[in-house]
Amino acid sequence: MEVKTLFDNETINKDLRRGWGLSFLIDQKILFDTGENGFWLLENMRNLNVDIERIKTVVISHDHWDHTGGLWEVLKNRKGLKVYACPNFSSEFKKKVRGLKGELIESERVTKVVENIFTTGEIAGEYKGKYMSEQALVVKTDKGLAVITGCAHPGIIKIVKKVKKDFGHGKIHLVFGGFHLIDKYEPEIRSLAEELEEMGVEKVGPAHCSGYDAKLIFKEVYGNAFVPIKAGVKFEI
Ligand SMILES: [Zn+2]
Ligand SMILES: [Zn+2]
Repeated sequence: MEVKTLFDNETINKDLRRGWGLSFLIDQKILFDTGENGFWLLENMRNLNVDIERIKTVVISHDHWDHTGGLWEVLKNRKGLKVYACPNFSSEFKKKVRGLKGELIESERVTKVVENIFTTGEIAGEYKGKYMSEQALVVKTDKGLAVITGCAHPGIIKIVKKVKKDFGHGKIHLVFGGFHLIDKYEPEIRSLAEELEEMGVEKVGPAHCSGYDAKLIFKEVYGNAFVPIKAGVKFEI
């Protein structure tokens, strides 16, 4: 199954817009998060030959502007999309999705999006001392499970543990996306990377709010099993 990185704060191609936030396209039809700006996201889609008509579903990890910001332009250009949100997203978010004729689906627990692709449902997290709900995407692949995170505000370890428990303790082949380690110091990041390795996570791709230090440390710990992710990067899972 193909993953295209549509938006990130780093890019491999100078023709692509970069900005705060994250957006991935999975199997040409499922959009995971939308970055901070819809015009930039649509521009990147054009540059990466994405056919917006093939996109059927958007899964939003959490209700932060750098993940929801591009959604409104996407909905204007692609009416009637299914939008997966957590029940605890703001009422403004839900109203806006419905106002733009999106089909809002609130996923409280593990929910199948399409064959082999699931959302974890709402996982409790915290941001700046406040409750922040977040969902991650789980893809069943031939090599094991792939877990895709937005910002991982509940904690990357907590998310991976929950996926292991909810998906019959299957092998976790790859975890990628935002790990939110930008404000953490090296020893903590290193022990997190080692803990993921001990939990059997075979490959990692920290992006977005993982931060520069985390990318270096994960690369050191994981070696060749480190997946570099920037806007424009395409890979198979
Ligand atoms: Zn973020
Ligand atoms: Zn966030």
